[in-house]
Parts: sequence; C-alpha cells; structure tokens
Amino acid sequence: MDRSAVKILLLDDEPFILKLHAHMLRDLGFSTIDAFERGDGALLHLDQGHVPDLILLDLSMPWMDGIEFLKHLVTRAYGGRLILVSGEDIRLLQTAERLVRAHGIHILGHLAKPIKPLGLAGLLAEWEKNTSFTPRPAERIFGPDEVRHAILGGEILNYYQPKVTLLTGEVQGVECLARWQHPEHGLIEPRRFIGVAETHHLIDDLTRVTLRLALEDMKAMEALGLDLHIAINLSMSTLRSVEFVDFAASEVARASVSPQDVVFEVTESQIMRDVRGPLEVLTRLRLMRFSLSIDDFGTGYSSLSQLRDIPFDELKIDQTFVHRAAHEPTARAIYDASLSLAKTLGLRSVAEGVEDQADWDLVHASGCDVAQGYLIARPMPISAFPAWVLDWRDRSRLAFGYE
Ligand code: C2E
Ligand code: CA
Ligand code: CA
Repeated sequence: MDRSAVKILLLDDEPFILKLHAHMLRDLGFSTIDAFERGDGALLHLDQGHVPDLILLDLSMPWMDGIEFLKHLVTRAYGGRLILVSGEDIRLLQTAERLVRAHGIHILGHLAKPIKPLGLAGLLAEWEKNTSFTPRPAERIFGPDEVRHAILGGEILNYYQPKVTLLTGEVQGVECLARWQHPEHGLIEPRRFIGVAETHHLIDDLTRVTLRLALEDMKAMEALGLDLHIAINLSMSTLRSVEFVDFAASEVARASVSPQDVVFEVTESQIMRDVRGPLEVLTRLRLMRFSLSIDDFGTGYSSLSQLRDIPFDELKIDQTFVHRAAHEPTARAIYDASLSLAKTLGLRSVAEGVEDQADWDLVHASGCDVAQGYLIARPMPISAFPAWVLDWRDRSRLAFGYE
C-alpha cells in the first residue's frame, strides 16, 4: 500500500484533536488528509467528489453527530473504510460499531479518545495486511450546471420499485426512484445527483418533474387495468416550500388522480431537525388527503410525541434493520421496536430491503404490512412493469404460496 496515496478524512468537533490525529497519521506515512470540524462541511466535500478511502469519525459532536453522519454515508453508498473515535464509554463505542456493521459499512475498528498512536498504527497495519489497496479511480462528479440541465432538459426519468402487501401478495404500489439518463455516461444513480440538487436548490424542480412523470405513468398503468399507489420522495427544502402543496394539488387534479393514491415519503432526520416549517407543509398535504410516509425509520432520532404530532399514514423501516435482521441481533431489535411502534401508532408498516428468503420469512411472520426489496423486484423502468406484474402473479403463487 502506498500510504501517501490513501485519502483520509478526519471529522471531529475539536480542532486540537484534529491536529493531533493528523499529526499521528503523518508520522505513520499517511499524508493525504482532509480535516473537518462539522459534518455538513465534510458532506459538502464528499459531494464535490472527494471521496476518501478512510474516515476517522468522532461519534459525539454537536450539530450533526456521528450516527447521523453515518446515515449520510449510507445514502451516498460510501465504499471506503471507517474508524470510530469517541471519548464515551467503551460500551457505547461497541454498540455504535454493531450499528455501523448493520449498515453495511466496512469498519476497521474503534478507538477511545484520546487515541494512542500504537492503537491507530495497529488498526491501519491490520487493514494493510488484509487488502491489496489500490486507490479507486475517481468517480466522475456532476456539477450543479449539469444537474440543472438534466432536470430542465428532460433527462431525469423514474424507475419504479413495487411494494407488495404481505397478507395477500398483491402489488400495493410503487416507489418512484429518480434516474438520470445521461447522453454520454448512461444511467446514473440518484446518489450521484440528488445531493448536488439539494445543495444547489434544484431539488424542488426535480421533485416536480418526478411527480409529473409518475402521474403520467400511473395513468398509463391504469389504462392497462393496474391500479397503483405512487410514492414520491421529498427532500427537506421541499418541506419548507408552501408552494409545493399547491403544485401537488394542481398536478393530481390535472391528472385526475385521487390524492389518497399519492404517498409522500420524508425521512425522519429531516423533520426532526426543525419541526415547524415541515409540520405546516405536511399537515396541509395531509388535509388535501395525500398520504404521508416516514422513510428510513430507525436511523434518526424521533420522540414519540413528535411522531404523534405529524399525521403519518405509513412507517418505512430502514433496510439496514430489515436485511439480515434474522441473523443480526442489533438490527433485529431495532426492527422489532420500529414495527411495534408502527402498530401502536396505527401506521401501515413497510419493510424495505427485503433481499432474500430469510428477510421475507421474518417480515412475513412478524406481521409487517408491506414489503419492498430486491427479492420482490429491483427498481425498473415503467416499460418493464406490466410484464413484471404477470411474472409476480406466478411467482407469488408458486414460491410464496399466495392464492
Ligand atoms: P430510499 O428512498 O431509501 O430508496 C430506497 C433505495 O434502496 C433505492 O435506491 C432502492 O433501489 C434501494 N433498494 C431497494 N430495495 C433494496 C434491497 O433489497 N436491497 C438494497 N441493498 N437496496 C434496495 P436508489 O434508487 O439508488 O435511491 C437511493 C436514494 O436516493 C433513495 O433512498 C432516496 O433517498 C433518494 N432518491 C431517489 N429518488 C429520489 C427523488 O426523486 N427525490 C428525492 N428527494 N430523493 C430521491
Ligand atoms: Ca424512500
Ligand atoms: Ca428508505
């Protein structure tokens, strides 16, 4: 391993600790280091294309703490390594480490603060021994102008992933997941442009495009005899914009679709940061009979009372607590708690990330209402949907025993 080529990102709210850790790393021959005192700064850096090979993450920070930062790493499909650092009790570090593993992030280990050069050197030497590290080729990063052009120029399209009712095996609806059909670079995943769109105030335009396309596709499916609910992902800035409510209302009216058949998914951490603005938009959407879903549940912090304040219809348990939950006690505990919370509050429960038979068996047996995941189907273009429905009807009978 060429240590000087390894890109390392340090995140810690204490400037002194940052200096100290950078110094230790340099002593060990690692010289490509970026240091941040705040999570939002580090994320911006990532979104500008500087994806590190290793992150040293402090767990306790004001503003955005380590766990929340981790969630952002998951949504960006971070493929590098991680070391957790904390001044807290070792048990907290161990729990956090289990959580990180449940999220599928590759963790080298944890270090208690103040970290000792020997401990750090040991973890890094272990890593070196177990990998034939070659720096990954940098992924092409798309700038705000390109993303704007894509949204306005009609290069964004929707893929659809089915949600099925566990009791009956019926297709209950679809989640709309944006894709960018790039003229040169092919089909681009959302993690490569949603973050940019959010930072550069383009996300509202993207949401409008997505909603409009979804309504058109829904009408086309209706003409084929398929009645589907559509679920649209909303970003935080959209939850602050009251105009969006009117836009959504006029779009469904134009398409003559009932608002009940449109579900808006919002993530837990988005709402909890500042509840007043989002509360108004969410309440107005709900008053217009749109359905509301709380997405990625389990990854943020929410108090029961806040959940009760917002009139949600559905709770989506994050995939990191569904996939492999049958084998992973920590994931399983969060899965069980989320499901029982959904039941207590009278919300429809949706398990995301149902990837294999063990996942299916768990969500089916535990009484979850709806399942979504690769085992059922990967997101697909609308053109593939009618054939998938026919295939699912056979499969759900033969493989899953539905009538
Ligand atoms: P999300 O809302 O949590 O969407 C689910 C993501 O999990 C999708 O990734 C989906 O393809 C993936 N997934 C589904 N089933 C499985 C499974 O069984 N296993 C695994 N490992 N993954 C599964 P995708 O399409 O790449 O979207 C990623 C994220 O991008 C979404 O996460 C959502 O936060 C965001 N996003 C996508 N489209 C939009 C959009 O139109 N607007 C906004 N604001 N965000 C969007
Ligand atoms: Ca979602
Ligand atoms: Ca989700």
